[in-house]
Amino acid sequence: MALVTMREMLKEARAHKYAVGAFEFWSYDSAYAVAKAAKSLNVPAILQVGPYEKEFMDGYKNAVAMAKMASEHFDLPVAIHLDHAEEYDEVVEALEAGFTSVMLDASKYEFDKNVELTCKVVEKAKEYGASVEAEIGKLAGNEGNITNDEDEQTDPAMAAEFVRQTGIDCLAVAIGTAHGFYTRPPKINIDRLKEIAAVVDIPLVLHGGSGTPEDKVAEACANGIAKVNICTEFIAAYGKGYNGQNTEGFKYNVLSLFKEGRESGSALAKSKMELFLSNRI
Ligand SMILES: [Zn+2]
Repeated sequence: MALVTMREMLKEARAHKYAVGAFEFWSYDSAYAVAKAAKSLNVPAILQVGPYEKEFMDGYKNAVAMAKMASEHFDLPVAIHLDHAEEYDEVVEALEAGFTSVMLDASKYEFDKNVELTCKVVEKAKEYGASVEAEIGKLAGNEGNITNDEDEQTDPAMAAEFVRQTGIDCLAVAIGTAHGFYTRPPKINIDRLKEIAAVVDIPLVLHGGSGTPEDKVAEACANGIAKVNICTEFIAAYGKGYNGQNTEGFKYNVLSLFKEGRESGSALAKSKMELFLSNRI
């Protein structure tokens, strides 16, 4: 099966009040782990690439090839998405390599500049038929620090205007989640999400899904979130599978060593997907 965009799968998800999981991947093994979980639940998969993954895989073309392999192996619709590109040139590079979806994160800029940069990406992505995600509002940073400052969160009226002016396919919103693991429990602003969803009808995206309380994630999926990004937790589960191996007296066998990582990563992905689907089933 060929790689697909996020457009249809996310529309479907928002309409039926569930979310598709989007997982960072860095190898065929990690793509396999996500695709296997998705196949077992009969849902599509989104495989994402950020700067670290790009470096690890030696570029976007290899990432596309690995995503295709996983999609074909499981006969599963898979979208390959560029996560958090900060530069237009990165977006173009990914599109040329065959990415079916891209995100330009210009949320650090003022509204007008964010609109201008995002419009440029939407224009370019059209040439490739790719879907586009953008972000408005500020998410807390990499260290798991959380801002409870509601002024930093996505403003509903601005979000609606942003979507109208840019024509993006899905919008990442800031409602109190943070990237990375949390250092203290986050306060997820479901009321704010409801206000945004009331005026923005395209699928909404939740970043910083790792470690976010499950009841809040389920509530978010029921209220407009159609894509949830999981990066840190997936990598951690995958790594634990390796670390749990006893290599003493180890006889060289790829199955006995590396399969555990893939299995534990896949189990984590599946449990997340089930959580995102909790309103559909
Ligand atoms: Zn993010």
